[in-house]
Amino acid sequence: MKLVTSARALQEFLDADRAVGKTVGFVPTMGALHAGHLSLVDLAQKNSDVSVVSIFVNPLQFSPGEDFDKYPRSLEADSELLTEHKVDYLFAPSAKDVYPNGTDITQRAGVVGSTFEGASRPGHFDGMLTVVNRLMEIVEPNVVVFGEKDAQQVFMVRKLIGARFKDCQFLEGPTLRESSGLAMSSRNRNLDAEQTKIAEGISQQLLKLKSELETGSTVSEAISAHTEALRSLAQTKLDYLAVIDPQIFRPVDDNYQGAAKIIVAAKVGEVRLIDTMNVTIGKQ
Ligand code: AMP
Repeated sequence: MKLVTSARALQEFLDADRAVGKTVGFVPTMGALHAGHLSLVDLAQKNSDVSVVSIFVNPLQFSPGEDFDKYPRSLEADSELLTEHKVDYLFAPSAKDVYPNGTDITQRAGVVGSTFEGASRPGHFDGMLTVVNRLMEIVEPNVVVFGEKDAQQVFMVRKLIGARFKDCQFLEGPTLRESSGLAMSSRNRNLDAEQTKIAEGISQQLLKLKSELETGSTVSEAISAHTEALRSLAQTKLDYLAVIDPQIFRPVDDNYQGAAKIIVAAKVGEVRLIDTMNVTIGKQ
């Protein structure tokens, strides 16, 4: 595996690969890698000839006072994992390389971008889309892979790729979980033992909610019961719990039938966690 820190160097390597007919698969990350990230790498490798993983903690998607400084960073361990995983290029650029012309926002997330995650983290999705757009311009992949755990991100990135990178295939990987059901996340490293138990409790609640919705509970009643239960957890500040229509990323009403997503965000201690679960509502 080559560790590449400059955009120009990466482009030269990839141009040489493309010149001999190879396709490029890309997995953007913020590092502190876990098996969830590696499952996306597997997907990229299955669908392309050479793989690129980027590690860049994007300052533009953190608001002042968020955990940009505390976000876990472990480039050396990440690099070892990716080498074992036979990744071709680890792209770990500096902010100057990603944003040579300054950190102006170039992509706007629109209406959906100001709901749920966007309501709690103003500007987050503009910053996220701006970096994804920039990384896509640098890498020019044939295939790009994102995780469905970040459901709202996936919703928006899919649109960006469809509008601006039409020739790139967009793939979505399922969420990898610990045996407790807790979704793997880089931020889990910042939870202590008690907080980990609480976070596990949240994912178990999601599973219960999913099963209730799939066995005929009314959405509004189930959501309010589980909202109350989540609010009563120690050290937990529930941000939102909702069932959304994945086509429009808006809450469903009680008459909704079909594929939906449960989405949740909560702070456990100082750590903000999000999760999502697919659910089918109504007649199967
Ligand atoms: P991050 O480094 O957290 O920005 O995530 C990089 C990519 O990995 C995103 O597309 C995430 O959705 C995805 N990802 C994060 N956690 C998981 C997980 N537990 N399972 C699968 N993909 C994940």
